[in-house]
Amino acid sequence: MTAPRIDTDLGKIEQNTRVLVDRLAAKGIRVTGVTKSALGSPGVGAAMLRGGAYGLGDSRVPNLTRLAGLDRRPLRTLIRSPMLSQVGRVVGVADVSLNTGAAVVAALAGAATEAGRPHGVVLMVELGDLREGIAADDVPEAVRAVLGHPSLRLVGLGANLACQNGVVPDDRNMGVLTGLVEKVEALHGISLDVVSGGNSATLNWALSTDDVGRIDELRLGEAILLGVDPLYRTPIPGLHTDASTVTAEVIEVAVKPAQPWGDRAQAAFGEPPARTGSGSVRQAILALGRQDVDPAGLQPPEGITILGMSSDHLVVDLGDHAVAVGDEIDFGVAYGAFMQAMTSPFVTKIEHRGRPTAPPVPVCPTTTNGQVREHLSMP
Ligand SMILES: *Cc1c(COP(=O)(O)O)cnc(C)c1O
Repeated sequence: MTAPRIDTDLGKIEQNTRVLVDRLAAKGIRVTGVTKSALGSPGVGAAMLRGGAYGLGDSRVPNLTRLAGLDRRPLRTLIRSPMLSQVGRVVGVADVSLNTGAAVVAALAGAATEAGRPHGVVLMVELGDLREGIAADDVPEAVRAVLGHPSLRLVGLGANLACQNGVVPDDRNMGVLTGLVEKVEALHGISLDVVSGGNSATLNWALSTDDVGRIDELRLGEAILLGVDPLYRTPIPGLHTDASTVTAEVIEVAVKPAQPWGDRAQAAFGEPPARTGSGSVRQAILALGRQDVDPAGLQPPEGITILGMSSDHLVVDLGDHAVAVGDEIDFGVAYGAFMQAMTSPFVTKIEHRGRPTAPPVPVCPTTTNGQVREHLSMP
């Protein structure tokens, strides 16, 4: 088979979506499935919809165009503030976009009028993570501006935490969002359809808090695709953490000294990785590089250790594994490796509907104390 490749079990994506949709439904929260790390794969999007997602979100216009071809013409949301240069394409391919700026909103309104297609706007509020968002004090004015454009529909308010500075969603910051919704509704005599509380990092809060307030939507990518909580990268009980696997082919196997020799300076990507031990190691090279995956999120099978990765070579210590040139090795993936493999032109994407398997039985609650555990359980 072609290598390198990333193999995704759409049955597991569907099951992960279903579990999260059901758990959140009990809190009055629906799920937008986020496909951006899967290059807007229609197969992945369809699996999320089968699992009960009420719509799909992606950060990129070309990905939304891919999703627009899906049979059921799902509700599509652009989850990154539109580029001014793209507003025409945005209103053509997205039903809703997340927004922060008056200039973009005005341009969207013009494009929507021109296209004769109304466009929904969710205004994003800054809650402390310092990425996108309107300052709380400026939200009423931003709402007024959207309401002033007849071709736009104010769908609701939203927020995004954790992605930029790791700020944890909690009752306090989520409460601010609920407070703003109530304030805006009272001020303008309107009622908002969507209060989009955040990404996968908001899941643990939503499922554990006594009161979700007005939050009625989450935008979930990583939790569905990888089965982990991005705050601590812990497995979410009851979800598959192995829906996707990266496979690479071995191109060299040799016993080599444990330590390099000669004067040493920088390696291809900065400081050379530490090599430990003395004597020799059974070392293999795989045809897999940083042009294919992010080494930080690549998880080798038990007993194999990653020694380093450059643009095109992955060097591993094989330990006791019997491996020959031409063999393939499967790797688990964390978010960065998954995203990079799915978006690299060098990696073949394979999607299949695996035999139905029961999701793993919930064994332990998601830790919330900051302890970092393994991202994925390895085969
Ligand atoms: C990427 C993104 C998401 C989804 O994030 P996950 O951690 O993959 O769930 C949601 N909202 C916004 C604005 C994003 O950029």
